[in-house]
Amino acid sequence: MKHFYSLFKTYALIMVVISTMAVSALAQSENTDKSYFRQLGQELPTPNNYRTGSGAPGHEYWQQRADYDIKVELDDEKQRITGAETVTYFNNSPDPLNYIWLQLDQNILDKESDYYKTQTGSGRRGGVSQLTDKITTSQIKALADRSFDGGHKIQYVRDVAGNPLKYTIVKTMMRIDLPKPLRKGEKFVFNVGWYYNVNDRLNPALAAGSRGGCEFFPEDGNWLYSITQWFPRMAVYDDYNGWNHKQFLGQGEFSLTFGNYKVAITVPSDHIVGATGVLQNPQQVLTAEQQRRFNEAKTAKKPVVIVTQAEAIEKEKTKAKDKKTWIYQAENVRDFAFTSSRKFIWDAMGVNIGGKTVMAMSYYPKEANPLYGQYSTEAVAHTLRVYSKYTFDYPYPVAISVEASNGMEYPMICFNYGRPEKDGTYSDRIKYGAISVIIHEVGHNFFPMIVNSDERNWTWMDEGLNTFLQFLAEQEWDRNYPSQRGFPKNIVDYMKSDQSELEPIMTNSESVKQLGPNAYAKPATALNILRETILGRELFDHAFKEYSRRWMFKHPNPADFFRTMEDASGIDLDWFWRGWFFTTDPVDISIDRVVEGVFDTKNPEIEKARLRAERASKPEELGIQRNRKDVPQTAVEANPDLLDFYNSYDPLAVTEADKKAYQAYIASLSPEDKKWLESQKYFYQVDFSNVGGLVMPLIVEFEYEDGTKDVERIPAEIWRIDNKKVSKIFVKDKKVKSFTLDPYSETADIDISNNYFPRRSQPTRFELIKQNSYMRGVGGANPMQQQKQEKKTSGGGN
Ligand SMILES: [Zn+2]
Repeated sequence: MKHFYSLFKTYALIMVVISTMAVSALAQSENTDKSYFRQLGQELPTPNNYRTGSGAPGHEYWQQRADYDIKVELDDEKQRITGAETVTYFNNSPDPLNYIWLQLDQNILDKESDYYKTQTGSGRRGGVSQLTDKITTSQIKALADRSFDGGHKIQYVRDVAGNPLKYTIVKTMMRIDLPKPLRKGEKFVFNVGWYYNVNDRLNPALAAGSRGGCEFFPEDGNWLYSITQWFPRMAVYDDYNGWNHKQFLGQGEFSLTFGNYKVAITVPSDHIVGATGVLQNPQQVLTAEQQRRFNEAKTAKKPVVIVTQAEAIEKEKTKAKDKKTWIYQAENVRDFAFTSSRKFIWDAMGVNIGGKTVMAMSYYPKEANPLYGQYSTEAVAHTLRVYSKYTFDYPYPVAISVEASNGMEYPMICFNYGRPEKDGTYSDRIKYGAISVIIHEVGHNFFPMIVNSDERNWTWMDEGLNTFLQFLAEQEWDRNYPSQRGFPKNIVDYMKSDQSELEPIMTNSESVKQLGPNAYAKPATALNILRETILGRELFDHAFKEYSRRWMFKHPNPADFFRTMEDASGIDLDWFWRGWFFTTDPVDISIDRVVEGVFDTKNPEIEKARLRAERASKPEELGIQRNRKDVPQTAVEANPDLLDFYNSYDPLAVTEADKKAYQAYIASLSPEDKKWLESQKYFYQVDFSNVGGLVMPLIVEFEYEDGTKDVERIPAEIWRIDNKKVSKIFVKDKKVKSFTLDPYSETADIDISNNYFPRRSQPTRFELIKQNSYMRGVGGANPMQQQKQEKKTSGGGN
């Protein structure tokens, strides 16, 4: 390397620029005062004994714990939940606590909730309303119907002796004042009784409750319950926020403490209950046949049906009046959810994760078949395998997918969607939608159920990381899997949006305008770029696994993630976090100019011939061309007396003096210098400008005149002195015909028209776009239906 540099210096004076080609750079962005390579000193909290500068938990790291013993009854007549809980709260912090805070999340469905009061339009939380002349009845209902009262009704709060404790409800939070300060290492036991009305998930007025609730099936008259955020839960007290009691406004999800749970769930006797944890009393709630099938499922190679569709359909008709109590236990979980219905088909399969059997299971109504029977449990198993490979072995004993026309996650259990048409056919959109949502929601077991980040403040920490792993799992499900999020090109439209519609990923969960692109797609894409383009798979996978393991069953913050990824990879990524997570700048890098050069051989035979050819190739001036016709005779042509030596002198003729000078020059060179001179290298100075703002590596593809190609990758650090303009000299053995920046679409460059040199015109096609529905298919027959219809109409055929 050093050697080449010295030679290059020797020849720098005698390099010949053979061509300079430039295109005017597009308008530069205004962000002239930004240096992405400033370290993130001010943006990140100061490391301390709880959280280290390496991103790991510190030697004095602590976290609280809350154990729950709950008895709950589901009233299938009134759609009501009634519960009584004993909470044991352990103060592991160094601080004495005079009061404790609990979350009453159902209070966003209280008639007077801030969630309702701060709604600005149909389904819009905050921002600008638009009153138009078209409004649907469901929009009116969502805005105006406050007839349903879904808030938590607290009946009592008592100590272990039964004495009432003073409590204050502050919107979606409840403070309990302690009789005496709870000191380090002490625990406090208390009881709470409550009930609430379960919201109808399909009622648009109760959209905020769409994470859980109930769904009515009019054709058979049965309900399906997804019971979530249903009990008063301890808020997190930590070294970072103190009490994290930021109010629940519907978008920022949960911040929860780990603990052990014992939950007794009383439901109509013909219901099937799925829940966080392991069933403790199968003999009391399952038939002998169901228990036999369950045991068979543990070692089965494919899902075993424990309650069949035919059995579920029989139960839909009977509607038992008596009750059964299902007892579940779960250890080291941050939450507990359950599902209950007599409509459930139930299947299961044991999956080997690190030598332990995990039960992958699915509960779904007949409306979800045949899709769920074929794919749900297989998708759960696939998710556990792929996610475990990139993080840690899934530590819980079960993982459940419930079809509830939904997409929401809890420890060991999640609620998903994907119902075919009544005739059993489905669009590819529904098929891949179902598999993707199952991977995604089961994947949430890893982030944030185990790597327990704070969802109330940072949606991206679980959604972004989870969507990234979802993308990896989808691509390992099927090579041509139509992943919606993960590929850099899929984020381009969002990155191109008007800046007023964007905010950095590092924005509080409740204040993000477009949660999907901002907190799911953009961080997932950034991580994919980090893995494929910045760090490479080996360094990235090592660092990501390290983060997952360090913070498994703990509470990480953004800085812990940023710092660990640098600490474990050995690569300074402050510029990357700053650009992708702290700004809204897009990537748009342009090739502005290319200067081509070769060595001056000094050989007069070669160089003079080259100059002669160059001159001959230039077109004659227009005036000279016209004078040939218009001026029949010039002065010297008319009078030869005017001619002298210079009229016949050829400055490009090779002279003896030229040859001597060349021989003397060659004699002065060392053998190595001579070899370089004869090497016929091509030098290209390529000028790049950063139009978009975000710095990224320069990935340049060279296409040579002989049709071959190669790619050079220049790290983003090339921008560390100047974020706006940079030049790079490339040395090539062959003449380059064209240059392409980012040939494999790795960087989410929002304008590729300036990625080519020479420029290429971009083909454009206009198409009429039909609006698609997210959960259902496109209007009209899906391809499976079309084929069925075609078969029918073609009949016997002739
Ligand atoms: Zn999610």
